[in-house]
Amino acid sequence: MRRPLDLRHVISPGLRDLVELANTDNFDRVTEQVRDLRGCTSPVNLHGWTITTDQTTNQVVRSYRSEDEPSGRLLTTCGNRRASRCPACSRLYAADTYHLIKAGLSGGKNVAETVRDHPRAFVTLTAPSFGPVHNRPTTDAGKPRPCSCGETHAQDAPELGTPLRPAHYDYSGAVLWNAHAGALWARFTTYLRRALAEHLGMTQKALNAALRISFAKVAEYQQRGLVHFHAVVRFDGPDGHTTAPPAWATFDALQVAVGLAIERARLIVESDAVGERVIRWGDRFKVDQISALGDGELTDAKVAGYVAKYATKNAEGAGTVDRTLVCRPCAGRGYVRGPDGFRDLCEDCDGTGQAEPLTNLAVQQHARQMIRTAWALGHLPEFAHLKLWKWAHMLGFRGHFSSKSRAYSTTLGALRDVRRAWRTAQAEAARVRASLPVDDENTTLVTASSWTYLSSGYRPGEELLAAQVRHDRVHTERLKQEGLLPA
Ligand SMILES: [Zn+2]
Ligand SMILES: [Zn+2]
Ligand SMILES: [Zn+2]
Repeated sequence: MRRPLDLRHVISPGLRDLVELANTDNFDRVTEQVRDLRGCTSPVNLHGWTITTDQTTNQVVRSYRSEDEPSGRLLTTCGNRRASRCPACSRLYAADTYHLIKAGLSGGKNVAETVRDHPRAFVTLTAPSFGPVHNRPTTDAGKPRPCSCGETHAQDAPELGTPLRPAHYDYSGAVLWNAHAGALWARFTTYLRRALAEHLGMTQKALNAALRISFAKVAEYQQRGLVHFHAVVRFDGPDGHTTAPPAWATFDALQVAVGLAIERARLIVESDAVGERVIRWGDRFKVDQISALGDGELTDAKVAGYVAKYATKNAEGAGTVDRTLVCRPCAGRGYVRGPDGFRDLCEDCDGTGQAEPLTNLAVQQHARQMIRTAWALGHLPEFAHLKLWKWAHMLGFRGHFSSKSRAYSTTLGALRDVRRAWRTAQAEAARVRASLPVDDENTTLVTASSWTYLSSGYRPGEELLAAQVRHDRVHTERLKQEGLLPA
């Protein structure tokens, strides 16, 4: 029997808790649980059980109860995509995105390897101008030239992308553009098919019967607070990635069609308050061929790397906040209904509907004005469907950072399944070692489980262990980069 340590002189709560954990009957399991989280910032704490029984014998084949853990709960990773929230989980997300995009370009993960011979383009679509902004033009030789304000801005100057004359900048236009960017993308994909048929002198029907176009796109914020899209566009044969596209479906045809579709894709927004707005793409776009042999500038790996990097950024590039600004109790309305059915001023936000006053946000004036504009437009009934309060912190853009057409490649879910299957296989192997009954084809196994959410985060002692895990991971990564460990 171990005698508990005298903890009175241990001052740090983290250390005190760590000593407490060390005194549980299985400290190895405590450290193992934290290590499995791979440095996750805010793991999910669960309580519950899973039991698998053999129906023919009624025997319990395996069981797991969080009660049996030394700390009485199961910890799982938060799985957040955003690097600002959880660097560890976002790295995993980036890795998954990388493999997903890469598979769509080079094959693998159930995608035919012949896709690398299909015409493939990396397309960048941008927003139009809503007024002149501070920029950093360069000469053909790459030397910086002065901005129209007269100054030559440094590469990381905070004023880059912000309006030269804020009072004349079209903030409503900018916010509405962000809010419709997803819809404009959808229209672009429709027009791309039409433009291609027209360019090739075919009917839409004949084109659709012979060719499939698949997409994978990711959104990125520019410094001026507008999103733009990077997309992989690939031509496939009639049955998707396993079939070769017809010979007339060339990269050149794709390039022409993209240009036409960008020009033609438009949305009209009408409102008494802001007038009629045409939502269209900016004149600046790029269509680059992705090289099949890795000898060109844009290789499969490079494109997959770009997309993975963009996928874990949120609106950070635009210098805004990564949390919703809607006051929860009143859902942004500024009032709550009293027991008498009348409106009462919301006490949480003092009637503003905002979780925190916009003037207090630690953001630049330009981002703040985008947020304010989104909030103001959110009051208009004609824009209710855009949920501008909910997306004000995203400067109007309503999510869907990365998306792809079903035919493009494998899914993130499938990649997770692979990982889960691997873990199960490991557990299976451990069970064999412990000489427990092994599943065979003649048994009918039934799994029942019940899980409830407890909280998020670590215990103070576990936090110290997690810090060590993160430190070790950074260290290992550095050794790999220096070539001292195999990559
Ligand atoms: Zn996490
Ligand atoms: Zn300037
Ligand atoms: Zn409120």
